[in-house]
Amino acid sequence: MTTAALRLDVRTLNRRFGARQVVRDVTLSIEAGRVMCLLGPSGCGKSTTLRMIAGVERPDAGQIFIDGAAAFGLGVNLPPEARGVGMMFQDFALFPHLTVEGNVAFGLKGDAQAKARRVGELLEKVNLTGFAAKHPHELSGGEQQRVALARALAPRPRVMLMDEPFSGLDNRLRDGVRDATLALLKEEGAAVLLVTHEPDEAMRMADEIALMRAGAIVQQGAPYNIYNAPVDRAAAGFFSDINVIQGVSKGALTQTPFGSFLTPGHADGAPVDIIIRPQHLKIDFDRAGRGPNPTVQDGTPARGTVARARFLGRESLVDFVMDQHDERGPLTLTAAVPGVFLPKPGTALWLMIRRDRCFVFPAA
Ligand code: ADP
Ligand code: MG
Repeated sequence: MTTAALRLDVRTLNRRFGARQVVRDVTLSIEAGRVMCLLGPSGCGKSTTLRMIAGVERPDAGQIFIDGAAAFGLGVNLPPEARGVGMMFQDFALFPHLTVEGNVAFGLKGDAQAKARRVGELLEKVNLTGFAAKHPHELSGGEQQRVALARALAPRPRVMLMDEPFSGLDNRLRDGVRDATLALLKEEGAAVLLVTHEPDEAMRMADEIALMRAGAIVQQGAPYNIYNAPVDRAAAGFFSDINVIQGVSKGALTQTPFGSFLTPGHADGAPVDIIIRPQHLKIDFDRAGRGPNPTVQDGTPARGTVARARFLGRESLVDFVMDQHDERGPLTLTAAVPGVFLPKPGTALWLMIRRDRCFVFPAA
């Protein structure tokens, strides 16, 4: 059976609340030591999916296999504690009356010596060795978070479910805690399903991203592939601001201010959206004053006028109104330029488009 190699194997999971289908045919699988991020906007069904896998919410249909054995489906419905699943949620309440050691040991079975050994090992791994006798209220937010992680990992869960585990931490702490958490999860070898609504977090943590929208997974793949080959305009737009150039396909070509684009597979007269991220729109400084000089790779440059320029720290965002219109009228585009680049409004500049970074979709 193919399920044997998979730690977690979820098939066509469904759940409705009243008339609303909240989770629709969700299918995903994770191998040991791998991290999958379930990514999507608030309300799309991420937590409900996680809760069904944990066994605290009952699916209407579907199957859940853990290490090849049914946890739900085929007449089985294991209670949460029998699933071998660790859980960590945003409001990971520690037991306030227990010490750090007591919290981490809470789910452990076996003799006192073995428990103490495992607790010591985990506190060392989360860098809290001297904290065993402290109580939760004596710890910072980041330290409490690490205790919660140690507690969840103590019984060596085969599957670790994490629901927005870092959203309670302030920005400065978060990157460090994320990286340390990821390192520990990898070391412990559990299959991890981590829910987040933040694309940056998913890109940073995931071996694989499952992009969810309105209850369904719309795309699954490595972060690089999801970012660079989105399935549709909304998937592209979930990861960054996007520019949209509208056109109409004719003879598998679409005319734009940047020359004609190949748009095979789009019927004659079909409206198309050409999508480009601000990072992939280049300002062509050499071109200034010399006029267009098209190259095969980058196509025709197009001229625009600066409407606004903002410095964001790592990069500057420059908004342009292009000389040429697209199908819908005046074309405005935003280019991201590394570092500080703040041209005055009204400045005319030439833009080049990275054609290999453009996505063409039927018009939304
Ligand atoms: P997410 O975690 O992606 O933000 P949830 O899975 O928590 O989304 O919720 C998905 C949708 O299901 C939301 O519209 C939410 O209001 C609804 N929902 C969640 N749990 C219940 C419930 N127990 N009863 C009714 N509706 C619910
Ligand atoms: Mg949620």
